[in-house]
Amino acid sequence: MAVSEKSCEELRLELKKLLILKEILEDILNYSGNRMFSIVSRTWNPVTGCLHYCRYCWARRFAETKLRDRERYRRGFIPRLNLEEFAVKFRKGEFVFVSDMGDLFGNFIPKEWILRVISYIKKFPETHFLFLTKNPARYHEFIDIFPSNAFLGATIETNRDEIYRKYSISKAPLPSQRYIAMKTLKWDKKFISIEPILDFDLKIFIKWMEEIDPIIIYIGYDNYNNRLPEPKLAKTLKLIENLSPTSFIIKKTIRKAWNEGLEKYVKTKNTLIKLIDPKPKNPHYYRLTYIKLF
Ligand code: SF4
Repeated sequence: MAVSEKSCEELRLELKKLLILKEILEDILNYSGNRMFSIVSRTWNPVTGCLHYCRYCWARRFAETKLRDRERYRRGFIPRLNLEEFAVKFRKGEFVFVSDMGDLFGNFIPKEWILRVISYIKKFPETHFLFLTKNPARYHEFIDIFPSNAFLGATIETNRDEIYRKYSISKAPLPSQRYIAMKTLKWDKKFISIEPILDFDLKIFIKWMEEIDPIIIYIGYDNYNNRLPEPKLAKTLKLIENLSPTSFIIKKTIRKAWNEGLEKYVKTKNTLIKLIDPKPKNPHYYRLTYIKLF
């Protein structure tokens, strides 16, 4: 049976993805250091701070509370180049998450800082470096100088821009702008984080991921009780089921949406009122619980 040109091309791309995954998995299995979570073995923060103001940002909260006496956070979560980080050494097989305490590719980061980081990771060709941003359009500026051991990642929590606007989720570029930037990015090792997941349109979101074609997708619900507009669990599981054949899915916190099963609640303007005692002795008396909405 003749194989069409299109099929050949698809097979070639699939094979390429498998080889990249094989390389990563071999390194992960052979690397004996402590793993913080999942595939990331280490974080490295040459640049910290961020001005995207995501309402669920744990890094800002961490910097402004527990870490507030550290030199790099004394002035808050403002972007900062940490020169002392350019003396660290990385080992073969480590999977390093770069700048998890900030957004290295935010428009507020000077180009020279990014060039300095890229130039430094080039000294460690046997280490994997993971970048994650909410402004992937900026990857295009540096695409010709990234080393091949860099994973270029973007957080895309939903396909719905209107959720972003309605609930003031973040000042970062809208999800649809990140999708376009990642879709047009010519890079083998793309990574998407759907975390914290926000409600989405199943068909459209699947199509976005197929078009971006990432090697790895992280999916997880919010861990910090931010009461975000979340999808129901069944819908998230459907998304995972559909994405699994083409990407390596790493499941983080997978649970019911915080408001799932609250159908017996009565909604007022910004509050849910729950009838705790549905059959009170005195029918005019109900015990109530108040839950503040977004
Ligand atoms: S982009 Fe990341 S670091 Fe910046 S505010 Fe949002 S969650 Fe925090």
